[in-house]
Amino acid sequence: MRRPFIAGNWKMNKTPSEARELVGELKDMVSDVDDVDMAVCPTFVAVPAVVDELEDSDIMVGAQNMYWKDSGSFTGEVSPQMLTDLDLEHVIIGHSERREYFHETDREVNMKVRKALEKGLKPIVCVGESLEEREEGRTEEKVAFQVWSALSGVADEDIPEVTIAYEPLWAIGTGESASPEEAASTIDSIRDIVEDISPGAEEKIRIQYGGSVKPHNIEDFISRTTIDGALVGGASLTAESFAGVIKKCQ
Ligand code: 13P
Repeated sequence: MRRPFIAGNWKMNKTPSEARELVGELKDMVSDVDDVDMAVCPTFVAVPAVVDELEDSDIMVGAQNMYWKDSGSFTGEVSPQMLTDLDLEHVIIGHSERREYFHETDREVNMKVRKALEKGLKPIVCVGESLEEREEGRTEEKVAFQVWSALSGVADEDIPEVTIAYEPLWAIGTGESASPEEAASTIDSIRDIVEDISPGAEEKIRIQYGGSVKPHNIEDFISRTTIDGALVGGASLTAESFAGVIKKCQ
């Protein structure tokens, strides 16, 4: 059985002090949750405060990005060792906002996925189609290509360490989520691709849905056996709403 996994992607929100306050409230609200994996992904500068505040909590901490080099002259970048040194467990890779605004390519996503795994970080790899691609009937083709590229060269035994977040671009931050049927059908197609890449891994890998997930609609997604949790944006920015999402997955 795959454990549900709810991760909050805070994007470029929350100062370090606001971040500490948020997780301070959140950890109390979810202290009785023991059957859901929970993570928050603050900005790099807020990570130390969040790690410190969550020292006595089951909530894990992840980063929103990383570079694929160990160290060196890469101004503005953060290496995987810098994340593991802070005891981070997860790192979001290839979010659609990074692909769109920072021109991150499938090749770069693959380099980051492989480097993260090499360094003991668990990648949360984001894939998803645009509205235009969906309307043209190219959803499965698009996500299949992204999944193939992201997992290229990844050892069979490492694939279950990866989480895939299926986030249709048109559902992100719009208040209009995919229907549970649409999400489940695309996630089933992703499982088929994972099976082609590494037979058996499709049973172990966790695939989340992301895009306008809120406390009032999470149950529609988590009740589908193929959907293992959610990558939550806006609703992870208050302790009350994020705890609301988590508690509905118990
Ligand atoms: P929203 O939940 O705000 O739609 O964001 C989803 C997302 O992009 C999470 O990575």
